[in-house]
Parts: sequence; C-alpha cells; structure tokens
Amino acid sequence: MQQVEGSVLEVDVAVVGAGFSGLYLLKRLREAGLSVRVFDAAGDVGGTWFWNRYPGARCDVPSTDYTYSFDPELEQAWSWSEKYATQPEILEYLRFVANRYDLRRDITLGTRVEAAVWDEASERWRLRTSGGQDVVCRYYVMASGCLSVPKSPDIPGSDRFVGDSYWTSSWPHEGVDVTGKRVAVIGTGSSGIQTIPHLAAQAAQLTVFQRTPNFSLPARNGPLPAERVAKLASDRPAYREAARWSLGGVHTEPNQVFGVYASEEVRRQRFEDAWAAGELFAILDVFGDQAVNPASNEIVSEMVREKIRGIVHDPATAELLCPHDHPLGSKRCCLDTGYYDTFNQPHVRLVDLRSTPITTVTEIGIDTTAESMGFDVIVYATGFDAMTGALVSVDITGRNGVTLKEKWADGPSTYLGLTAVGFPNFFALTGPGSPSVLSNMAVSIEQHVDWVTDCLIRLRADGFQTIEPTPLAEDGWDQHVADGAAITLHQTANSWYMGANVAGKKRALYPYVAGVDQYRWACDQVAAQDYLGFRRSGPTGEHTNDGVVCQLQPDVKRVLDVVAGMQLPALETMSAPDARAFMDAMNAARPPGPEVAEIVDGVLPGPAGDLPYRLYRPAGTGPHPVVAYFHGGGWVLGSKESDEPFCRDLCARSGAVVVSVDYRHAPQDRFPAAADDAFAAVSWIADNAILLGGIPGELVVAGWSAGGNVATVACHRARDEGHPQIRGQLLLTPATDSDPNRPSYTDNGDGYVLTAPLMRWFWEHYCDEAQRQDPRAAPLHGDLAGLPPAIVITAQFDPLRDEGIAYVEALQAAGVPVQHVSARGHTHTSLTMVDVVISGAQVREEIAQRLRTLFPSTATVAAVQAAGTEPAPV
Ligand code: FAD
Ligand code: NAP
Repeated sequence: MQQVEGSVLEVDVAVVGAGFSGLYLLKRLREAGLSVRVFDAAGDVGGTWFWNRYPGARCDVPSTDYTYSFDPELEQAWSWSEKYATQPEILEYLRFVANRYDLRRDITLGTRVEAAVWDEASERWRLRTSGGQDVVCRYYVMASGCLSVPKSPDIPGSDRFVGDSYWTSSWPHEGVDVTGKRVAVIGTGSSGIQTIPHLAAQAAQLTVFQRTPNFSLPARNGPLPAERVAKLASDRPAYREAARWSLGGVHTEPNQVFGVYASEEVRRQRFEDAWAAGELFAILDVFGDQAVNPASNEIVSEMVREKIRGIVHDPATAELLCPHDHPLGSKRCCLDTGYYDTFNQPHVRLVDLRSTPITTVTEIGIDTTAESMGFDVIVYATGFDAMTGALVSVDITGRNGVTLKEKWADGPSTYLGLTAVGFPNFFALTGPGSPSVLSNMAVSIEQHVDWVTDCLIRLRADGFQTIEPTPLAEDGWDQHVADGAAITLHQTANSWYMGANVAGKKRALYPYVAGVDQYRWACDQVAAQDYLGFRRSGPTGEHTNDGVVCQLQPDVKRVLDVVAGMQLPALETMSAPDARAFMDAMNAARPPGPEVAEIVDGVLPGPAGDLPYRLYRPAGTGPHPVVAYFHGGGWVLGSKESDEPFCRDLCARSGAVVVSVDYRHAPQDRFPAAADDAFAAVSWIADNAILLGGIPGELVVAGWSAGGNVATVACHRARDEGHPQIRGQLLLTPATDSDPNRPSYTDNGDGYVLTAPLMRWFWEHYCDEAQRQDPRAAPLHGDLAGLPPAIVITAQFDPLRDEGIAYVEALQAAGVPVQHVSARGHTHTSLTMVDVVISGAQVREEIAQRLRTLFPSTATVAAVQAAGTEPAPV
C-alpha cells in the first residue's frame, strides 16, 4: 500500500522513468504485490519516444523485435505498421501499454527526482522530487534511460543566436515548419542522419555541419519483413526466446565467415546481402570477425565507402562523407532513408568541421574558421551524456555519505551493470556494464526488469530487507566487462559508447559487449547460486555469498559454449587413430593464422627414421633466430601442422623461424620415443641453423602441452650431454608431472576441453605407471639446475595449471631464470586458438616479446618492450 504521511509518500519501490523500462517494471512489481510509485520529468509516458520527436525519428531495430514480448496477448493486440516504426507510432504503443495495464495511476509525470539518500537506520531510501514531495522507499530503481540526458551545449555562442534553435532530443511537440528557411544542422549521428533528409525537403537552404562522418545504411523501410513475420506467426515463443539468447537481442545465425580469409566473391556477396537487408545486425555481421579484426572490418568499411561514392555525385563531398577514423560498428552505425542522396540536392551543403571548425555561433548564424554563414534555424543533433548521465544527474548518496557521482568519478563500477557497492537496495536498469545500448534494448530491458523483480520477490520470501553486492563481486564484474571491451574494436573509436563525446568523462567502454546471451547467463547464474556476489540482511540475520560470477575470458566462454552445444564424443572413448582423424577434421575448419613469408616442409633424421618438419619463416631478409617447436596432443595426437595457426602467429610476432617437428606417437611408440625424437630434432636444428635460415647459436626449444613436456625434456638432455646450446625454453601449458591430484585437476578437470579423464588416457597411452615418475616423462622430478632460461605459460582453467606453476617454482629454486606468464581466464587450449579466441592474442604478444628477450640479436629491443608490460599477469 502507498501511504502518504504529511508530504512524504511511503512505498516499497520508487522508480525513476516511465519509458520502456519503467512501464514494464511497474507492471511486474505491482503484480508481485509491491507498492510502487514511478516518477518521470516528462509530460507523458514513453521516455525516449516522448522526447525525441524530430522529423524522421524512427527505431533502428525492426519493430517486430523492438517491442515488448512479455505478454502474448499484447502482441496480438498491437500491430506495427512498418519495418521501422516512427516515433509517433512507438509513443502511441507505449501509451497503449500504459493504459492497457492501468499503469498511469501509479505514475507521477512532470516530476523530476532530484536527490536520493540512503538512510542507514531505517534501511530505506529517501527521495526528493521537484514537486516538493519526499518519498521513502525500501528499494529505489533508476529506469532513467541510457540516452535521456542531452549533452550540455559545448559550442561557443549557442545562446547568442536570435533565430530559432532546436535540439533533436527535445523537439517541440507542435512540430517545426522550416519551409523556405535557411537551416543549419550540427551533428551527423543517428539523429542528424535521420532528420537531415526531412529538413532538406522543406528548407530553402540546408547546411550540415559535420565533425565526424558516420557509417550509414539504407533502412529500406516498408512493410514488416515477411520473413520475420512468418517466423513469429509460426512460433512466436521460439522467436522471442532465440532473441533472448542471442548476441545482440535479435536472433542471427552463427557466422563463421572470416573477412580476411574469405574469397572476394564471398565477401562481395555477403556485403551486398547486408546492404540490401537494411538492418544494423546484418551490416554488423557481414563477417564473423569484423568486430574484432581491423583488417576484416576494413573490408566492409571500404565497401560502404564505395556505396557512398556511388550515391553522392560530387566526389569531394562524397569523400568527406566517407568515415575513415573509426572501424564500422565501433561507433553506432546509422540507418537512413535517403541521407547520402540528400547531398545531391543543390540547396544542401556539407561543411567539414575538421578542416574548418566552428569558432562561434553568432546572433545571425555560425562562424567557422573559413567564413560566416547566416541562418534562420539551427538544429542541434549533438547527442547525449550517455549511460551515466541520468544516473549521476540525481544526487544519489549511498552508505557513508558517498555519492554515486563520487564513486564513479574515475569511471563506473557496477555488479551486473545493475547494482553498486555502497548503494544497498539500489538498481540501475540498463546501467553501465550491461548490454544496454549495444543490444536491442527492448530485450535487455525485459531481462533487467524480470531479474530485479524476481530478486525482490526472493528477498521477501527469504526474509531479507537489504541487498548489496560485495566488493569482490563488483571488481570481478568490472574486470569481466573490461575483458570483453579489450576484445573488440570499440576502444579504438571516439564514440559516446566510450564516453568520448563528453569533455572530462572517463574513457571506457560503458556497455557490456560480450553479448545479451552471456549477460543473461551471468544474471541467471547469480540468482541460481543463491545471489552469488551479494550480501543480504533482514530480521532473520545477514547472509553474504561472496564470489565472482564470470572469470573466463568472454570469448573463451563463448567457444566452450559452442563446443558444449556440439555434444562431441569424448576423445578418450575413441581409438587413437579415430581420435587423430577426429582432431584433423576439427582442425580443418579453423582459421589458418597470419601470413608468414614462407612455409617449407622437410625431413630431418631421427633415432628411428626420418622426422618430417614444417618450417615457418618470418618476413625480413634474415637470418633469424630459431624456435624448435613441438606440438600438443598428449603424445598421441597432432602433427607438424596441427598447431599451424599458433606456429604462424609465433613466427609472425617473434620474428623467429619456427620449425615444427613431428615426433613418434603413442601408443605405437611409447615412452621415451617422443622424448628421444625431440632431442634428436633439436640437435639437428641447432647443427643446421644456417641451412634453415637461422642464426647459429640462437635457438629456443618450445612446445605446447605434451609438446612442452618433450621440449623441456630435450633441454634436460642437452644440458647433460653438453650439446646443443639452447638459449631458452618456451613452455606453453606444459605437462610436467603425472600427478592428477593437484587442485587444478579437480577444479578444471571437466568442461574445459582438456579433461582429467582425457589426460589419464594420454598418460596411459604414453607410458606405464612405473615410468611416470621418470624425469624424461615427468620433468618436474628431474634435476633442474643448469637448464636454459624458461618462459612458462600457465592458464587459469587448465588441469595442468598447478603442475606448470610447480615447474616454475622448481626451476626458480634450481636457479634457472624463469618468466611466468599466467593467462587469466584461459584454458589449456584457448591460447592457441588464433583468430577465434581474440583475448589470446594479447597473451601471445607478451609471449613473443618475452621470447625475443632470449635471443641476443633481438634482446635489447625486446627487453625494453617487455619492461613496459611487466609484471602484471595477463
Ligand atoms: P528512456 O526511454 O530514456 O526513459 C527514461 C525516462 O526517465 C525519461 O522519460 C526521462 O525523462 C526520465 N528521467 C530520467 N531522469 C529522471 C529524473 N531524475 N527524474 C525524473 N525522470 C527522469 N534502442 C533500441 O534498442 N532500438 C532503437 O531503435 C532505438 N532507437 C532510439 C532512437 C533514439 C532517438 C534514441 C535517443 C534512443 C533510441 N534507442 C533505441 C535507445 C532507447 O533509449 C531505448 O530503446 C529505450 O527507449 C530506453 O527506454 P528506458 O525506459 O530505459 O529509458
Ligand atoms: P550522437 O550519435 O552522439 O551524434 C552526435 C553528433 O553531433 C555527432 O556527429 C557529433 O560529432 C556531433 N557533435 C557533438 N558535439 C559537437 C560539437 N560541439 N561540434 C560539432 N559537432 C558535434 O547522437 P545522436 O545522433 O543523438 O544519437 C545518439 C544515439 O541515440 C544513437 O547512437 C542511437 O543509439 C540512438 N539513436 C537511434 C536512432 C535510431 O535510428 N533509432 C536515432 C537517433 C538516436 P562527433 O562524432 O565528432 O562527436
């Protein structure tokens, strides 16, 4: 029940915002039996669609998808008239929703929430509103929008202009007629690009002031897309569910086409299809790697530029409209109707603010460094203080008098993008650190509302009255958000996603980029694990369930999910030949890895016959340092080419010749055949360095997994026999011991590709139980003194992690110089998945840098570079 005491209103939940978020939240909370009051500064419900009424305003996600899905009957009751509904239609829809569910009686319009203070004693929030009424509530939810606070005017003189000034973000309700007028538009983001053709249709002169050109795609608006309508008609729940578990809130098919590796024909076809589709999710998904690989992105970007040049007649204007300063999708792509064609009209002019910046707005127009121009109307389409603007514009004071603005002075910090340490019982829908603006917001909003409502229901059921994240959980989430950001190209752009449009705002990727599906999974996990990462309290006591929900690198998690979804047979259930054939088939589908100058196959003599090798030569005249490399595969699987992407990558990054050598496999040739072959190969490579294009004496022995095992065992033997000279050993997640009882075996023995049973199968194939303590099988048990310097890479979610760490410690104890790279969030296999697990690239770059420190010819430069990255684990 809502209670009013004096001028104080008391409710269970106070909500700020009556847009898509606030309306659905009110419905759900009310149904849950909670008393709710919603406040909005606007004169009606609708949020974004109440304020942004400029001509041409539409959604940029198809209306079939940019719509509520919580009630099938609502979906039957409302039909969208177009592929991309207009602002008036979307506003009408939200009004329809408000009326249909009788929401208005709990909404106070025209009222701004100005401040909110957490009262420790009563464990309630106290809100101050512009209407003079205070509100006391147990829970306080900001449903205040990501794009609801216009950017402050930052153009000198804008208050001097005596003509008419308009902002797209608060367009007059009665509309604006610019017929016969001289109109200026500042800004060419989505709002500017949508409205410019409409203004051009009326104005006598239209001058567009462009600071940064944007990528825009023709919307091809029209009837609702037949394919989507048919899918909805045939199975609406499945269609909606697929969107909920998609990357961006609109279902798309998995895309394995890599731009850099696709044929010209495939590239062209995929691009033309996306261009013809007129959908953001199509142009952002021409290639599966365009969001992460600059080269692939550039292929699509250039095709869009070609289209722009094909539409705009004047080559100079066309060139100015072509974006070159950011990858496509790193700023929000726009959807337009006739935007580029507008510049073919004689009364439309483009002013490039990069070459001639605005010096001031004057009483009569705009001055640039080149000229003075007179106008009757100036339209500002200059954007928003996005993501955090609305949240920090309210004076929100949490525990110990700390405000949200103070907490976020150096960038936002949240748990799940929804909650924050120090702010109990506070929720921010679509807050920073949630998918929000990188997704179909309708889908993300429903997910948030459902999660928050379910959380409040659970709190009540469990007898708790407060909920607040723990610092560990929040730090973990911030790290997870940053890990996602590090993978994509968003960070390379000066966009509002990065806070770059507002002076003084902390530069960071504000939304969560790892996907709507991954985000939903994380939120579900938190709830399923008894609100992991939260501290709750109530009359029944206090309960803290500390922990971090996402620790895997986001792209590693995605690969693991795909692998799990394939329900592949376990390797250890197969015969060795079948397992080899299976791995070959799996490897055939992967990206090949970067270009190297040359790949040569050869053979070298082994103790029991020739050993084929594959040599990867880097660019440059040479000679180069040499890496003798041994593949992974548990002494049973793999070949000289099975680690090709990793070998190419190592070669290209380090500038070393990489010689990947076959060695005899178990079970045909059991222990110590593999180790003997490795030693013979290393000796031959050392002796034949010149023949291979290498620098004599500059040899590092390297290997991954079982290959790391035979690599280091070869180093033991070289030390013992006094030949060859080895500069160092590079051991990637090596097998160093046969003991399956370390914690990493228990923690990571299942679900991370290399499993404990598979490792047991490898050992059983390789050697007898009695041999497994032999230092040639388990080098951890050997004498390590006098071994070459080592670089050892361990991965957090690898069963072999702890034996790798044990080897690092044992080497150090034996006086061997060791560099340990601890790959956070990675698995045994993820670091070698070149171009698939993008987060591995950063680790491989560090490995290559450290590798160069082992070679005299490259050591100095590399040491300087490595010094810049020391010592933080990656
Ligand atoms: P909003 O709709 O922004 O509503 C927030 C409300 O909170 C506002 O009405 C505001 O007045 C109120 N408010 C804020 N602070 C206070 C306060 N202190 N006191 C009182 N009231 C307050 N997203 C898509 O997914 N697809 C699209 O096609 C799309 N098109 C867009 C087009 C435009 C022009 C813009 C600006 C955004 C678009 N978006 C789109 C993003 C859009 O903001 C969301 O889709 C969605 O409408 C957000 O709903 P919301 O309820 O969370 O926030
Ligand atoms: P925006 O994308 O931030 O664009 C603002 C534009 O104004 C940019 O071109 C910017 O240039 C320019 N600008 C800002 N300050 C300037 C200054 N001082 N001098 C000169 N130019 C200046 O804002 P928006 O267009 O309003 O769109 C914001 C977001 O709202 C969109 O990205 C989208 O998510 C959503 N939206 C969606 C639709 C839709 O199609 N459904 C429509 C509108 C908005 P710089 O790039 O150089 O900073």
